[in-house]
Amino acid sequence: MTRIAFIGLGNMGGPMAANLVKAGHEVTGFDLAAPVLKAAEESGVTPASHVSQAVAGAETVVTMLPQGKHVLTAWPDILASIPAGTLVIDCSTIDVESARKAHAMAKAAGCLSLDAPVSGGTGGAAAGTLTFMAGGSQESFAKAKPILEAMGKKIVHCGEAGAGQAAKICNNMILGISMIGVCEAFVLAEKLGLSHQALFDVASTSSGQCWSINSYCPVPGPVPTSPANNAYKPGFAAALMLKDLRLSQEAALLSGASTPLGAEAAQLYALFEKQGNGGRDFSAIIEMFRSKV
Ligand code: NAD
Repeated sequence: MTRIAFIGLGNMGGPMAANLVKAGHEVTGFDLAAPVLKAAEESGVTPASHVSQAVAGAETVVTMLPQGKHVLTAWPDILASIPAGTLVIDCSTIDVESARKAHAMAKAAGCLSLDAPVSGGTGGAAAGTLTFMAGGSQESFAKAKPILEAMGKKIVHCGEAGAGQAAKICNNMILGISMIGVCEAFVLAEKLGLSHQALFDVASTSSGQCWSINSYCPVPGPVPTSPANNAYKPGFAAALMLKDLRLSQEAALLSGASTPLGAEAAQLYALFEKQGNGGRDFSAIIEMFRSKV
């Protein structure tokens, strides 16, 4: 049993904290939103009224916040309230630069730190089957691993500070680009009079196969669990895909990498969001191609 403080109990953090409780850890939580904190309490998390109260006595602190600016605001308060040697893990998806700044803050406070963003969505968070991509020292990773294992099924140490965030945005850039490719293929098939099922049966078992078609097919029918069968309720919201694509493009600019398809995918998701679709699943972008971009 580890005493864990969990900061940020939203769509992802709530079920992740609940899984830590289920695994026998003692979890104290804090979130700025009262309803979310109440829901966490119902799953066994002890609610705190502010960050410093949540982290008092914690051996490990986990943050699951929206963006880099939230992490860089929360971490100084956390680090000021915990003893040197405590481990702080950030599971949010944020830019690599902010992640490295957070690691530097932790180092200055004598604390261990890990960036450990996740893949697997709210379903994976609830089922405890997330993939964690971790960046930080070997010592931080070794200490974090048993805790992450209570929330995920695959834990990968990607390298030093920021490497987890780097892996996350590279992965999601592939996902954004591949979803657009799959959507275009289904729209072309419709124009050619080819059925959705026929395209799926061929492409999902040949060289066109990828997660976007095999597991998350953007048309209803072939994959019954995909959001297309549920009126494109997320799943993974288009606004979050846009956020990750923008992070990939910021990183590409800073590092000098050439990512023309990543840039195009970011543009297309920005247009899709502008049309009022940010809250829908990202696979709903197929409708934009049907209506001619
Ligand atoms: P969310 O908005 O549901 O939850 C974030 C929570 O953080 C909110 O409840 C908010 O009140 C709280 N918060 C913000 N600032 C705070 C502070 N200073 N102190 C305490 N609480 C604070 O977001 P989410 O869907 O849970 O996503 C969290 C992170 O996980 C994001 O970085 C997102 O990109 C990433 N992510 C989300 C998904 C997904 O499918 N939702 C999948 C993978 C990764």
